[in-house]
Amino acid sequence: MKTIGLIGGMSWESTVTYYQLLNRLARERLGGLHSAKLLMWSFDFADIEEHQTAGNWDAATDMMVDAARRVESGGARCLVICTNTMHKMAPEVSSAVNIPLIHIADATGTAIKSTTVSRPLLLATRYTMEQDFYIGHLRNKYGIDVVIPDDKGRTTVHDIIYHELCQGVISTESKRAYLEVVDQARRVEAVDSVIFGCTEVGLLIGHEDFDIPTFDTTKLHANAALDFALGQ
Ligand code: GLU
Repeated sequence: MKTIGLIGGMSWESTVTYYQLLNRLARERLGGLHSAKLLMWSFDFADIEEHQTAGNWDAATDMMVDAARRVESGGARCLVICTNTMHKMAPEVSSAVNIPLIHIADATGTAIKSTTVSRPLLLATRYTMEQDFYIGHLRNKYGIDVVIPDDKGRTTVHDIIYHELCQGVISTESKRAYLEVVDQARRVEAVDSVIFGCTEVGLLIGHEDFDIPTFDTTKLHANAALDFALGQ
């Protein structure tokens, strides 16, 4: 089994999910006492969020490149950035190391293409919903055109991520708010599926809340990483 290098802490609430999923998947696939070989760099998320809010993406990229190099020099055989948003600098991170980056939008795009859905709604941070690094990746590489919530919906989804989910707060009121954003997009935009495009979204809502397909990027990404580690 190859060692998976994780760049986490963005936030640690979802990095915990990665850690559990990777280990559980290794046990499921290999049995017995098997668990995943992992090497992790975990940021103080306040430092990252400060750069995001200020639009200091160059400084954030420097931090990500530094983390990637540390994980590579520690012996990791691939890189997993445990957040959708910080795939904004995936090209820079990827070209700074000699190990492959398992891109979260590749895991997501592959999963979507294996179904018949054509109008997925993206629930993510404002950066992921409004900039092109993620939706452009899905469009250009997989031919998938994602729908994003209206401005009010984007504010709701974004604020709940930063003010609640990344701080360990899970509330029924916020769950209701997310479900309303999806309902509205179904009515107005005829979306036929939902991408949990932020690694914390699965902490609030799950596939059981919907009668349309959902794509939880955390789960898909962890699966893709373990596939790589096991050469599958
Ligand atoms: N974990 C989140 C994501 O998947 C948001 C936090 C971040 O900005 O990295 O986008």
